[in-house]
Amino acid sequence: MFSYRHAFHAGSHADILKHLTLIHLVEYLQEKPGALTIVDTHAGAGIYSLKDGFSTVSKEADGGIFRLHQFIETCKHANVAIPESIQEYVKSIDVENLDGELSTYPGSPFILAQLLRQQDRLKLFELHPKEIDILRHNIGQLKQSKQINIYAEDSFARLKGLLPPPSRRGLVLIDPSYEDKQDYRYLEVAMEEALQRFATGCYAIWYPVLSRRESAALPDRLKKIAAIHKRSWLHTELRVENAPGERRLQASGMFIINPPWTLEKHLAQALPILVKALGINGGGQFLLKSLEAKN
Ligand code: SAM
Repeated sequence: MFSYRHAFHAGSHADILKHLTLIHLVEYLQEKPGALTIVDTHAGAGIYSLKDGFSTVSKEADGGIFRLHQFIETCKHANVAIPESIQEYVKSIDVENLDGELSTYPGSPFILAQLLRQQDRLKLFELHPKEIDILRHNIGQLKQSKQINIYAEDSFARLKGLLPPPSRRGLVLIDPSYEDKQDYRYLEVAMEEALQRFATGCYAIWYPVLSRRESAALPDRLKKIAAIHKRSWLHTELRVENAPGERRLQASGMFIINPPWTLEKHLAQALPILVKALGINGGGQFLLKSLEAKN
């Protein structure tokens, strides 16, 4: 426990899929003026350097945000249009790199903070003793910090206590490190409890695509939970490489419960471009499926 530091993975292909999806969810939910409560159950440090520290050891951003940036530059020169959700995502990254050099990668807390309107609230959970201090420091620098609560607590146990939010409009990002393989089970229990208390909330769950049994079974288990509660879902995966035996993460997925109707269309436009931009040796591919709830 506590060997995971998100700085190693900041700006990776998995962050791109997660954060691009997240931005679309927030923007859709903000189409109505009512206050939105966003819970980020696994926050990490908030923002990461791409110039020094852990990210330069793992170099995962090279195959992620750096590669995407380069692809977009090439598209601009060739006058090729970029889908709206990719543009929105890149805008969020560029806001943290105003001098034009890509040296910083915002994690979910910073991306979400950028999007907060005055009436919205953000609740961040982080358990790691070092990450929580860095997160507190980083969030303290933001003008939106008064709208943000930080909890040094186990979010799997605490999530249900925050639901439903007072305005009954809520988005929950669940992005565990899966360092502990029990996280898969804790996640299912937390989802069951969350849906019992707040069935209409939007829930976005990130997971790594691995051969490990718990990971392979997760999407089907989430589909079952959604079916029990008569909820719609959307399931997407982005693979950038198909090299069996390689240790680096080659694919990841997002499972959304109660997705906005616009999400599938946006992802259908973005995913083929992400495969083109990030795919290695022809190994890139994506999955996009959804199911409307029958009430
Ligand atoms: N959501 C972040 C982003 O997109 O920028 C990345 C989060 S990282 C994948 C997962 C984080 O969850 C780690 O920093 C880890 O310390 C923290 N964590 C692990 N178990 C937790 C728990 N039960 N409750 C709260 N945080 C936890």
